[in-house]
Amino acid sequence: MILILKPDTDKDGKEYRQLLEFLLHMKNIQSRVHDEKGTMHTLTEIYLVGDTAALQIEEMSSLPCVERVVRVSEEYRVLGRHHDDNRPTYFDYKGVRFGQDNLNIFAGLCAVDTPEHVELMMKALKEHGQQCTRMGAYKPRTNPYSFQGHGKSCLPYVFELAGKYDIKVIAMEVTHDSHVREIHQALEQTGHPTGVMLQIGTRNTQNFELLKSIGREPEFPVLLKRGFGITLEESLNAAEYLASEGNRRVVFGLRGMKTNMGDPHRNFIDFAHVPVIHRLTRMPVCIDPSHSVGTRDATSDGILDIFHVTAQGVIAGANMVLVDFHPYPGKALVDGPQALRLDELGYFLEDIRIAREAYEKRVALAGKFRA
Ligand code: PEP
Ligand code: MN
Repeated sequence: MILILKPDTDKDGKEYRQLLEFLLHMKNIQSRVHDEKGTMHTLTEIYLVGDTAALQIEEMSSLPCVERVVRVSEEYRVLGRHHDDNRPTYFDYKGVRFGQDNLNIFAGLCAVDTPEHVELMMKALKEHGQQCTRMGAYKPRTNPYSFQGHGKSCLPYVFELAGKYDIKVIAMEVTHDSHVREIHQALEQTGHPTGVMLQIGTRNTQNFELLKSIGREPEFPVLLKRGFGITLEESLNAAEYLASEGNRRVVFGLRGMKTNMGDPHRNFIDFAHVPVIHRLTRMPVCIDPSHSVGTRDATSDGILDIFHVTAQGVIAGANMVLVDFHPYPGKALVDGPQALRLDELGYFLEDIRIAREAYEKRVALAGKFRA
């Protein structure tokens, strides 16, 4: 059960103390307070766990400071959508909104290689009005002898160039706590020219200790990729690990499933799950067409498979597209064969605009049909 308190409830006030006192004396029920600091208001929610089945909504709603009460099912307590649950389905970070009702594109380098390539990428993004990108500094690789990413040494120039080209948010994978510390340090050192969305890759979806420590991270939002060989439910529970520790600014990423059934794509495309995640949870949903498809193959209609699957995800309501680009795919140190070229950026964005417009028309049509 969640008690949603009146906005800006005074934690030093008498009413709040009375509420805590009451909760403290409830048998077999533990409570956990969570504050969400927005730009205008602080929202406080109290999660009650334990023996809550017998609690009456009316009684709990009448407690001091309580505005609303939501009874949650066992599944995805914090991030899930529950009956009569109208908690927000978006968050803001660095002035960018991440919600189930909008769309952001994160085109960029799978792996940072040289400052020149980073700059060419960022410049192209700015020219196309983009404010987000992807830049891999820590690369978990299948083969221990493959390039593992430049790590912390590239962070200062990546962040400075982002500032130079007005890039507000960089999605960057981390595989260890120490990477988060290095990102903090590099942002500090460069004067916070940009923001970072920490990415947890498919190989770490169930790295529970990493999830817990990033869940306690107060500053950065997180893009959690679906695990490539586990059920959707297991991956959604992984997202809930982040939220249960306090970080509920989580975007859920679909990136295809590992099975030869998907051949000749690198992974079996799972973008049909975009609306399912919208239905089950309050998380914005990201699609990663590059790591799903893994090639630049095109079909007889002249359209690359990467474009086709992106459109399929977007027309189903996806909220974020994470996609590999490179100024010279032949020179990329990681995943060159699936990278799009900078001269394709405008075309790619226009193709997405068409799919998004179609999605919005579909939503309007459904609304008219139901009315
Ligand atoms: C990536 O986005 O660079 C990546 C490695 O993705 P995934 O974890 O989905 O394989
Ligand atoms: Mn990659």
